[in-house]
Amino acid sequence: MKNIAVIGAGTMGNGIAHVFAQNKYKVHLIDVSEDALEKALAIISKNLDRLITKDRIDEHTKIRTLKNLITFTSISDGVKNADLVIEAATENEDLKLNIFKQIDKDAPKNAILATNTSSISITKIASVTNRSENVIGMHFMNPVPIMKLVEVIRGYNTSNEVAKTIMELSKKLDKVPIEVNDYPGFVANRILMPMLNEAIETLYNGVAGVYEIDTVMKLGMAHPMGPLQLADFIGLDVCLSILNVMYNGFKNPKYAPCPLLVNMVRAGKLGVKSGEGFYNYSENKKAEIVSKQFI
Ligand code: NAD
Repeated sequence: MKNIAVIGAGTMGNGIAHVFAQNKYKVHLIDVSEDALEKALAIISKNLDRLITKDRIDEHTKIRTLKNLITFTSISDGVKNADLVIEAATENEDLKLNIFKQIDKDAPKNAILATNTSSISITKIASVTNRSENVIGMHFMNPVPIMKLVEVIRGYNTSNEVAKTIMELSKKLDKVPIEVNDYPGFVANRILMPMLNEAIETLYNGVAGVYEIDTVMKLGMAHPMGPLQLADFIGLDVCLSILNVMYNGFKNPKYAPCPLLVNMVRAGKLGVKSGEGFYNYSENKKAEIVSKQFI
């Protein structure tokens, strides 16, 4: 496996492209937006500089990594020589189904098609292709160059051979792959999202404030970040959408998103990306607590 195509050059796509390119794979990074591609290359370059400062790589590795990256705005051109395509475009089911129809048509017949989706069914994505045995979930964590886990999700028809190839490939990237089956939320989000939702519910019920809830979990449970701040980092819209996938997928009220989360998303308070969620990030980049109204 030599040629990797990554579709989507946002937060996850640039990280995935970085990791493959640094590990000597030829990477085609594809996005509909020229601007996103330019930003992605700038972020990768900055992240490589950070690794140089920490003595993790040398200048030569940076140059070689950047040389392994080529950008494309056309999916057909970007995937035509790919051994593996990893889709990391916006989390929207219709968008992903359309992308998979296209890559099934344009990528080489034996290429593996992977998706980095956080919550959409791999089996459903695979069903729009003519190679469902070659479709798999490869769920990297953010930030990709730092986080060790790859949740490898087998769709209903994913072949043993494809699962084994992706497990081995992940290890070559110095990641730890964990194989799971395709049910809503997989494992990572099935466990994480109810905890974040419960933290929001605790705030909504007036049990404690943002600072108190996050501090209990940081100091009491040794979490590196409180659940409300983590929700802000993930994006409150993303949390809401994953909870809805689990709520609809299992038809179980335990996954029902907290009304406060729903309201905050409606009000455009999406967390770090919009400048405000449970904390305010707009000034001096220092998080200040905003959601005091519930205590
Ligand atoms: P993002 O919004 O940062 O980036 C998405 C990119 O996809 C954008 O640059 C957009 O221009 C591009 N795009 C949209 N439609 C496209 C198309 N048709 N063809 C090519 N490019 C297209 O999103 P992200 O946070 O990087 O998330 C990407 C995927 O990774 C999602 O499925 C998300 O659920 C998953 N994920 C995200 C995280 C996270 O922490 N952000 C973690 C794990 C998995």
